[in-house]
Amino acid sequence: FVVPDFTDFCKYIEEFYWKCKANIGGKVAAYIPQLAKFNPEYWGVSVCTVDGQRYSIGDTNIPFTIQSTGKPINYAIALNELSCNVVHKYVGQEPSGRMFNELVLDYNRKPHNPMVNAGAIVICSLLMHLIKPEMRHSEKFDWVSNYYKSLCGGEYLGFNNATFLSEREAADRNFAIAYYMKEHKCFPEGSVLKDVMDFYFQMCSLEVNCHSVSVMGATLANGGICPITNQTVINNSSAVRDCLSLMHSCGMYDYSGQFAFRVGLPTKSGVSGSMMVVVPNVMGICCWSPALDTYGNSVRGVEFCEDLVSTFNFHHYDNL
Ligand code: GLN
Repeated sequence: FVVPDFTDFCKYIEEFYWKCKANIGGKVAAYIPQLAKFNPEYWGVSVCTVDGQRYSIGDTNIPFTIQSTGKPINYAIALNELSCNVVHKYVGQEPSGRMFNELVLDYNRKPHNPMVNAGAIVICSLLMHLIKPEMRHSEKFDWVSNYYKSLCGGEYLGFNNATFLSEREAADRNFAIAYYMKEHKCFPEGSVLKDVMDFYFQMCSLEVNCHSVSVMGATLANGGICPITNQTVINNSSAVRDCLSLMHSCGMYDYSGQFAFRVGLPTKSGVSGSMMVVVPNVMGICCWSPALDTYGNSVRGVEFCEDLVSTFNFHHYDNL
């Protein structure tokens, strides 16, 4: 076993869980009613190791939309299907130093990285228009969903249509970003902006729970092989490496530098309060609690990660 005394390890997870539960700071995202209605008290943590050991505590069966926590998944799929060279003709690898929904491009007039909205929208255009262009939109949605389903080992994956409709309605900023990118020819030829945006909102509206996100994290931790099913989902091993690299440097919005310093684990957060944490070669962890700090990261999730690395030597540069 990669975690030899798993029972002992889980006792620590439980201890951190209760400590973080006492933290009632932060605010639930309010830009759409489907997120605003979430109880800030929800708090769940799920762990899945690369050899399939599982532990969950708290509200781990409640569905939530994946939001930005899906950005690294879309990026990994694009890399797996198209190669790094093709993908990075359209998007950079640099932290933006700006808010995730900032109307800004880098010096090459490309989005900074695939973890901010601009970059994630471009990744959606690649998934839509460069891969299997003969597919209808419905087939493309199924095709990408099936990738997600394989990454989470067949565990809970759904679609929240009300969230999708709200996202699309409350998306002036995202449309502004997209038109700005269209002006600068950021999209592959033949892209239809409206279709790309619909696809982006659909990807934000995929529904998951703590269990399924922990398995996705574990699949990334395991080099693309799902530890629950043993299926090789990402067969291009550098796709996983590249995805984890950018999660490490850009995954926590404008807190990414501080998080990389303090926690040192590739992680991606989302506006629904989820965090997918990867301990490479060891485990995937999902933390979910809807109350967010001023950066947009889950207050309890961030505290949990800091507690985790203060006890275990999971930080990338521990034990050198
Ligand atoms: N739906 C959100 C948006 O596009 C996703 C961003 C997020 O999770 N931070 O603004």
